[in-house]
Amino acid sequence: MSLYTYEALPVAEWFRRNKELAGFHNPTRALYQTIRELTENSLDATETYGILPTVYLRVKIEDEQKSWVSVYAEDNGIGIPGDEIPNVFGRVFYSSKYRIKQHRGVFGLGLKMVVLYAQSTTNKPVYVRSATVKSDKIYEYQIMIDTNKNSPIILDRREYPNRQKWHGTAVKVYLEGNWLGAKKRIEEYIKRTAIIAPYAEIVFKGPDLELWLKRRTTKLPPAPKEGLPHPKSVDVDTLKQMIQASRGMTLLEFLTENFDAVGEGTAKAFLEWAGFNPNAKVAGLTPEELVRLVEKMKQYEGWRRPRADWLSPVGAELLEIGAKAILGAEAVFAVTRRPESYGGHPFIVEAAVAWGGQIPPSDKPILLRYANKIPLLYDEGADVARKVVDEFHWDNYKVKFPAPLAVIIHVCSTKIPYASAGKEAIAEVPEIEKEMRLALRDAAKKLRLYLSRKEREQELLNKYIS
Ligand code: ADP
Ligand code: MG
Repeated sequence: MSLYTYEALPVAEWFRRNKELAGFHNPTRALYQTIRELTENSLDATETYGILPTVYLRVKIEDEQKSWVSVYAEDNGIGIPGDEIPNVFGRVFYSSKYRIKQHRGVFGLGLKMVVLYAQSTTNKPVYVRSATVKSDKIYEYQIMIDTNKNSPIILDRREYPNRQKWHGTAVKVYLEGNWLGAKKRIEEYIKRTAIIAPYAEIVFKGPDLELWLKRRTTKLPPAPKEGLPHPKSVDVDTLKQMIQASRGMTLLEFLTENFDAVGEGTAKAFLEWAGFNPNAKVAGLTPEELVRLVEKMKQYEGWRRPRADWLSPVGAELLEIGAKAILGAEAVFAVTRRPESYGGHPFIVEAAVAWGGQIPPSDKPILLRYANKIPLLYDEGADVARKVVDEFHWDNYKVKFPAPLAVIIHVCSTKIPYASAGKEAIAEVPEIEKEMRLALRDAAKKLRLYLSRKEREQELLNKYIS
């Protein structure tokens, strides 16, 4: 054999070998992650399009000996066009969410990891049934993934008339999964999802667990719009691609048409500052000039800040409804901060403090973390939110531990800075850390007011009683 044997590893094959990077470490994590990916896709396919989500989830033990389970998920979302179903389920990095807009999904990977894990443990295909809004057909497929080609293998395909005008998606997979190991996390995940999405109806049926999280409100958060990149957020490759698509343009036209927060005045001022001719054609820029342009775009202080229309925060009102209902708190105080940005990416921090009722007293606040409405359950210690909550001066806000206190921190952004590929913790970005601290302060002030009032009432009561 030669000393030099090189080969390319197909992308799907790489992910099959490195499952833990996407959260599929073992049968426990894999079952949890499967529920997570399917639920998040269902919520993206509904609320983003103004549909009140109804999500039905079921876990069944299929073969106790082999620890095979099946997971079924069904939603009332916008569905998937029939001819897109194979790629959506069978091609890694195939997505409708590679847009500048807040989604739960970002990589175009989740479903494929579910299918890859399922087929590599049970050798069974994924079953899909879907219909788009107003479609007169329902499509049904059985699909596996050819990991060497990164393409779908269609084992079965059927069409039915859609007389009821149903729309949505139903998915069923068979996988090796540890129900007993995953049960608690799954329960936690679904309840936490219901806190941040009280407008969703989620039904879960497991071997010895049934959850019915009713819809608490019919108000949906504002849907995110689709946006353009901010000049501070692009790298050289992105810029090159953008130039490819607008070769005929001058620099001035290119900047004003392709970027967020850049009007003609701003673009002119920037180009003058950076030493570029506004009338030069973008197609004529040398590689060195491209690098310099990106550098200058990052340094320039005169851009307007990124717009936040691409984001979809939950809002204080919905957070309070969700936390009261699911945590059974006596009182909840929530705030949504103003949009801020880091590295050209807009973000919004929301925080809520929940007090009393069914919250058990503990030595430090219970922390519920969220990123783009996804509950984060693992790696709490690595999350900047934990640090912020631990360093917070609770004694300034009339909180003495042990206290029945839960803190919710939600970051939404077009780019969440995760601390690791597992997407379970938010990294220490100074701008985000600062906003978390301020959000917590704003919410804790309301709590202090509430606790003072209670204290006064108690004193009065004591006076009358004694
Ligand atoms: P991502 O969610 O990151 O885009 P996925 O592999 O999970 O990646 O999904 C790929 C694509 O499949 C999504 O972008 C979406 O267009 C489509 N999709 C997945 N699940 C659903 C669903 N339940 N309803 C409608 N479309 C879906
Ligand atoms: Mg997804």
